[in-house]
Amino acid sequence: MTAKILGGKQIAEAIKADIKAEIADLTEVHGFAPCLAVVRVGDDPSSAVYVGNKVKTSEELGLASIHHHLPSETENSVLLDLVQELNENDDVDGILVQLPLPPQIAEREILEAIDPEKDVDGFHPVNVGRLSQGREALVPCTPAGVIEILKYSEIPIEGQHAVIVGRSNIVGKPMAMLLLQENATVTICHSRTRELASITSQADILIAAIGRPGFVRGEHISDGATVIDVGINNVSDLDLVRQLFNEEEIEKRLDAITRRGSTLVGDVHPAEAMKKAAAYTPVPGGVGLLTIAMLMRNTVEAAKRRRGIT
Ligand code: NAP
Repeated sequence: MTAKILGGKQIAEAIKADIKAEIADLTEVHGFAPCLAVVRVGDDPSSAVYVGNKVKTSEELGLASIHHHLPSETENSVLLDLVQELNENDDVDGILVQLPLPPQIAEREILEAIDPEKDVDGFHPVNVGRLSQGREALVPCTPAGVIEILKYSEIPIEGQHAVIVGRSNIVGKPMAMLLLQENATVTICHSRTRELASITSQADILIAAIGRPGFVRGEHISDGATVIDVGINNVSDLDLVRQLFNEEEIEKRLDAITRRGSTLVGDVHPAEAMKKAAAYTPVPGGVGLLTIAMLMRNTVEAAKRRRGIT
């Protein structure tokens, strides 16, 4: 068996086109463009790229965006004041504080200070609680993107056994809640799970969100499963690349390491997944492409709810 590749690009583009049309409509009919405020603290290079992409996509879709970049030595109280100011600014519909934050910042305190109605990352306990109760909520973008990939690719969810490896607040747990809402039977695995492969190999839908390159091997995957790889790992180890990819891909990856110093690898062993799964999301080019589109959708949803537009 060779797995069908579930690419994220076409799906993300279709979602963004819908959002762009909706923003144009809000602007024309209601006289405003939803506004996303993005806050970055310090000079983490990955955060700079992520924030740059979020601001760029906002502009492409017609969202208004505000970008605050604070120095790495910013005090907790200063960041709290900024969040408060954005909460009170009636023009701002969504607030995103880019993680990770420098060590002097109390991350939980900052995330909990964001008005839940503007919490477009879906990390505030109010939104987490609403999601777990199956109520309307702002939902974390990466797991929401996984659901979009499954639906768009017409992969049935209801009644299927979905196994998630990883239980983080950002991916694993909200992923479980969303799959439950779609009537899947859900199992969550983590680092203390015993005999992992005996559980994951029962999955119709296997979702890996672990943070370890190529961790999910052929033995973890049942024949014909759908495998969703959420992992994003920067790999520069040439031997690891040779172990993970097939002949054709190895050259491309080694070339990427020569040019950029590393290549992006998921949490699933790509060559083995291709042999056992029926469908598989590649890294890069899979789940990651949906995350920003879902952030844009959350911003539009937040704007409509807060302004009472149905
Ligand atoms: P995380 O907070 O580090 O959580 C990793 C999870 O994996 C934990 O629950 C951990 O279990 C579990 N785990 C670690 N080693 C394991 C093992 N040997 N067996 C079974 N479970 C194991 O990571 P995260 O934030 O969820 O991110 C996971 C991956 O997704 C990373 O590669 C990250 O870069 C990627 N990611 C991608 C996107 C995107 O846009 N595509 C967004 C966010 C994250 P314990 O809880 O027991 O420690």
